[in-house]
Amino acid sequence: MRKAFAEALERAADGRELSREDLQVLLGADEQESASLFELADEVRSRFVGEDVHLRGLIEFSNYCAGNCLYCGLRKNNRRLVRYRMSPAEIRESARRAAGLGCRTIVLQSGEDGFYTAEVLADLISRLKEELDVAITLSIGDRTWAEYALLKEAGADRYLLKYETSDPCLFSALRPGTTLEERLKRIAWLKELGYQVGSGNIVGLPGQSLETLVGDILLLRGMGVEMAGIGPFIPGDRTPLGRFPPGTLEQVLKTLALARLVLPRAHLPATTATATLDARSRARALKCGANVIMPNMTPLPYRGDYRIYPGKDGLGEMPEESYAKAVRTVKSAGRRVARDFGHGYGNL
Ligand code: SAH
Ligand code: SF4
Repeated sequence: MRKAFAEALERAADGRELSREDLQVLLGADEQESASLFELADEVRSRFVGEDVHLRGLIEFSNYCAGNCLYCGLRKNNRRLVRYRMSPAEIRESARRAAGLGCRTIVLQSGEDGFYTAEVLADLISRLKEELDVAITLSIGDRTWAEYALLKEAGADRYLLKYETSDPCLFSALRPGTTLEERLKRIAWLKELGYQVGSGNIVGLPGQSLETLVGDILLLRGMGVEMAGIGPFIPGDRTPLGRFPPGTLEQVLKTLALARLVLPRAHLPATTATATLDARSRARALKCGANVIMPNMTPLPYRGDYRIYPGKDGLGEMPEESYAKAVRTVKSAGRRVARDFGHGYGNL
């Protein structure tokens, strides 16, 4: 083990603030060093958020998108994708099913789809909150302050808005027409409005360096978010980045472990993108700092068309199978399924 690595790890174990250099050294861990990093992240996870794993049921209710992100299969220029929208009644039915299975949180995700006005979504959210004893997380991208405010008032508890990369040039190159500054401004709005906020980044994006990833972790720490989704870049054949290599599992797990060290109380999912790299990687992520799984609750006819990236885990599964698989993963990692909502612990 390198001396600098051992020293940085010790500082992390003592709960001291890690410098940019420390993060760089830790992120550059070799196989043996990684094992120590993962062990520490697992210990910190156990100490701060315990053995519970929260199962948040994900409903991908529309794959229409006005955005054109270079990495994403839902981008508007992908004309080969069959588009779908679930009706509010179908979404409620899926949410009932997810709650019936045991999900205490429903995550509503979609492309940037203005068809669902804030009023329509607010009505849906308030009905869901009336009918079911669940927390609601939204992951529907960029909206206005007034829309976020209306959705919060209607009962939404959390919002996921990833910064994707901390490099402003890379951000604008990959998300045409948008800037990192605006994205961060929206994340600040969501906090002001009282949402529990989740963010996160993609690991292994073309054009991303080790320094960028260090910047990603520093940004995450600076934002003090309550959740962070960290997953690998998966190249999509129907996107301009189809020929680039995917992010590696090792780099994702190292980034996840560092996220746990800098945000000890955060909720960190073992993401679907991570599971796409290797079926067993969800269980591995649970041992590198993760404490959340988001089983897919999207009904089968639509699931295959929510092709953010190809080869997504659980494509042919019914919601019941996806939920049961998540429970098995939790148990195989020696952990237990949380019974509470798993609201934010706060890192501010
Ligand atoms: N439209 C919303 C939410 C849906 S996209 C938004 O963009 O915020 C949800 C997440 O999918 C994004 O935050 C991004 O991190 C991830 N994603 C998209 N394409 C990806 C790819 N090719 N590889 C890995 N993650 C990807
Ligand atoms: Fe649309 Fe989100 Fe995909 Fe970008 S990442 S194309 S905004 S669904």
